[in-house]
Amino acid sequence: MNRCTNCNYENVPTSTFCERCGTPLVPTSSPLEPTYRASDGTLIPIPPPPPLSSYQHSPVALPQDTSHKRTVGRTILSLFFYLWGVLCLSFGLAILLNPSSTIAVLVFFVSCIVGLVILILLLLFRKYLYLGTRRRLLLEIGLTLIGFLFLIFFVSVLASSSSAQNIAGGSVFVIYGLAAAFIAFW
Ligand SMILES: [Zn+2]
Repeated sequence: MNRCTNCNYENVPTSTFCERCGTPLVPTSSPLEPTYRASDGTLIPIPPPPPLSSYQHSPVALPQDTSHKRTVGRTILSLFFYLWGVLCLSFGLAILLNPSSTIAVLVFFVSCIVGLVILILLLLFRKYLYLGTRRRLLLEIGLTLIGFLFLIFFVSVLASSSSAQNIAGGSVFVIYGLAAAFIAFW
């Protein structure tokens, strides 16, 4: 039985379109619709699964790493290393220029002020630190030892020329100060 719903023509059971009017022949019950038979014998359609988009909206709570949150103790330690670094950097810049000139004094103070402005920004926006206290301490101590060795090396090797000593020593102080200040809030 394959009767057309449009013109009521009786088609052969295998045809999918009406032979008279061309209307697609819809079977009386769609075999594609998923159903299950209840205990009383009735067919109950299975509801379609929810659209995929509903899964994408479920918020995924990312675990926040609070282990390196900048506490008061960590802030004091970072402040100490940062200010020390800025002092060394400014001192190095002054030595590099000319330790006896008034410009060197000016450069020293301008460098310190710039360092303090950056410090305020760091305190405002750097709430989480990458390094833990232990690694920060180890890095700062290691850096200080390396800087100290470089300073001794240059001062002894370049003993004959005070200007060369100033350039080498000043460079060591600048690089060391920059690194120390960076590690302080890393
Ligand atoms: Zn028909």
